[in-house]
Amino acid sequence: MDDVIIIGAGVCGCSLAYELSRYQVKTLLLEKENDVSEGTTKANSAIVHAGYDPKPQTKMASYNVEGNAIIEQLSADLDIPYKKIGSLVVGFDETDRKTIEKLLDQGIQNGVKGLRIIEKDELLAMEPNLTKEALCALYAPSAGIIAPWELAIAQAECAVMGGTKIQLNAEVLSIEKIDGGFNVRTTAGDFKARFVVNAAGVNSGTVSRMLEPEFFSIVPKSGEYYLLDTTENGIVNMVIFPCPSDLGKGILVSPTIHDNVIVGPDSKVVDDKDDLGCTSEGLENVRKGALRLVPNVNIRASIRNFSGIRADAQMEDFIVGQSKTVKGFFNMAGIKSPGLTSAPAIAKDIAAELNQAGLEFKPNPNFVSKRRIKRFKHMTEAQKAQAIKENPAYGAIVCRCQTVTEGEILDALNRPVPPVSLDGVKRRTVAGMGRCQGGFCGPRVHSLIAQKLKKNQKDITLDKGGTYIVLGETKRGKI
Ligand SMILES: Cc1cc2nc3c(=O)[nH]c(=O)nc-3n(C[C@H](O)[C@H](O)[C@H](O)COP(=O)(O)OP(=O)(O)OC[C@H]3O[C@@H](n4cnc5c(N)ncnc54)[C@H](O)[C@@H]3O)c2cc1C
Repeated sequence: MDDVIIIGAGVCGCSLAYELSRYQVKTLLLEKENDVSEGTTKANSAIVHAGYDPKPQTKMASYNVEGNAIIEQLSADLDIPYKKIGSLVVGFDETDRKTIEKLLDQGIQNGVKGLRIIEKDELLAMEPNLTKEALCALYAPSAGIIAPWELAIAQAECAVMGGTKIQLNAEVLSIEKIDGGFNVRTTAGDFKARFVVNAAGVNSGTVSRMLEPEFFSIVPKSGEYYLLDTTENGIVNMVIFPCPSDLGKGILVSPTIHDNVIVGPDSKVVDDKDDLGCTSEGLENVRKGALRLVPNVNIRASIRNFSGIRADAQMEDFIVGQSKTVKGFFNMAGIKSPGLTSAPAIAKDIAAELNQAGLEFKPNPNFVSKRRIKRFKHMTEAQKAQAIKENPAYGAIVCRCQTVTEGEILDALNRPVPPVSLDGVKRRTVAGMGRCQGGFCGPRVHSLIAQKLKKNQKDITLDKGGTYIVLGETKRGKI
């Protein structure tokens, strides 16, 4: 029997696995998909929020502010792409000014550092492409941008190197209370542990109901985006938000960590928790929202549309902690925005609760607190020459848009949680993330994965299980 089973390898589950790997704890991370970070963690705005949005005295407020600080440190330790670029909430009139003053007050109560209201002249000097209609803004220097999937992958990799087990392609079907713990039935067999943690994202309501009487259910809310080409890099320097409304933080315009520009999201209730489609109506709303803030942002430079699903438990706060009805069962549930920012802080809290509930914490001598990734594009000329000398595969550029080498892709395929799909490789190396969206490098990456896994290319997917790319033989011969 393991000590802890974590259900769901999104940023919450992976943060907890990493946190528990500090100790000699037998942890098993169960994930229904073929990779970590396949849920909401891979499709969001990628903002490390400062922490003025959540209502003071909520868990959300303290996790947000603490998570913001932890992520800065974690990014340095685990080599996760991250930049503290600051954010602005822009006001257009005196009603907006009142909202901004309220956000400032909330931020001060929540302990956010460096917040201040700036007026039009300073605002336009900071962001020359912002609409001239802007009146004032809340400036939050501690906001940042990150590669969100990397926050999950990096922590999962370190946890695995420290002894955590991961079982992918294991969808949890039911959970049963047994003597001394739980039996968790999955599509990959049964697993037993003393404690179970529900970090199943949009499915956290379903997983809770496997053991607990219903006390929340998740309403899936989609948010659609445009991702703009790097040609738009520099149109804004910070994360630009409008004033928040009942629908959320609003449609933002922001640089991404990979020098693109992201525009979105809207907010719409969807019937299907897996509905990641975009609609012309949703994208039109996003376009209008972006132009209101930055009138000359070039939406035609779009290289991709995508959407993410919020796990809205229709509560003001996150659902975090031990179940009131089932001892030994814990929830990290209803983790909507700012869940990405909050995840490492939520994980610390759940770890402390597990410890209080009887999980012994002896330091793990194999804990991995540092990780380094070779990124050819960011090397000096001397480092590039050295990398090629050590491994000639670093001399072969596979992704031309993002300058990713075959060496980096082969390294990714050998990492502690290896990718099995094109998008898995993309999230680890950025190959396929550029202007051509994998049109050029896709076939080569496809073939490298097949070689590594000793499989036929027909069996290699774009992303989740079932997303096959090559369907059969062509008249030119066998694949
Ligand atoms: C549009 C949008 C924008 C956002 N922007 C931001 C932002 O800028 N900043 C921020 O801080 N937050 C943001 N968020 C919120 C943030 O993305 C989420 O809070 C966070 O990713 C949630 O992580 P998670 O681990 O709880 O869920 P997920 O990432 O969804 O992970 C849950 C995992 O559980 C797995 N799973 C589900 N059911 C089962 C089962 N039965 N068995 C096994 N595995 C299962 C899933 O496959 C998935 O991998 C945004 C969210 C959305 C939708």
